[in-house]
Amino acid sequence: MKGKCLCGQIEFQVIGNFSKLYQCHCSICQKATGTACSSGLITDIGNVRWISGSEKVSSFTKENGFRTDFCSICGSPVPNKMNIGDYMWIPAGLLQGPIDTEIVAHIHTESKPSWEKNAKHCKIFSGEPDNIEKFMRLLHNE
Ligand SMILES: [Zn+2]
Ligand SMILES: [Zn+2]
Repeated sequence: MKGKCLCGQIEFQVIGNFSKLYQCHCSICQKATGTACSSGLITDIGNVRWISGSEKVSSFTKENGFRTDFCSICGSPVPNKMNIGDYMWIPAGLLQGPIDTEIVAHIHTESKPSWEKNAKHCKIFSGEPDNIEKFMRLLHNE
């Protein structure tokens, strides 16, 4: 299974048995991703091979040890070594093509933002809304 960042300069391969996914809803993942949670999988460090762009990987480590690696060109999170054990965390959104796996765990759910916890009446669009004015009215509750 291959993965690449948004700009495509960083590309990697994950070999071995493909694990299931989990989502982390902690406050740090919210900041690191800019959204409600991170979605990823964990694999042995030896299962990840950089195909290109490894020199473009930037890294940030918070005082508490949380580390996030990201593409220095486009900002996509990229695989990074976890604090615990010899494991790599792989951001699921970077994986290419259909993936025969599913989300099997949600962690830190008590930290979900209220706007996610309270969401009950969402309109569903299978693609992009076709009318921006109508969409703005929806977002502004008019
Ligand atoms: Zn990139
Ligand atoms: Zn988290």
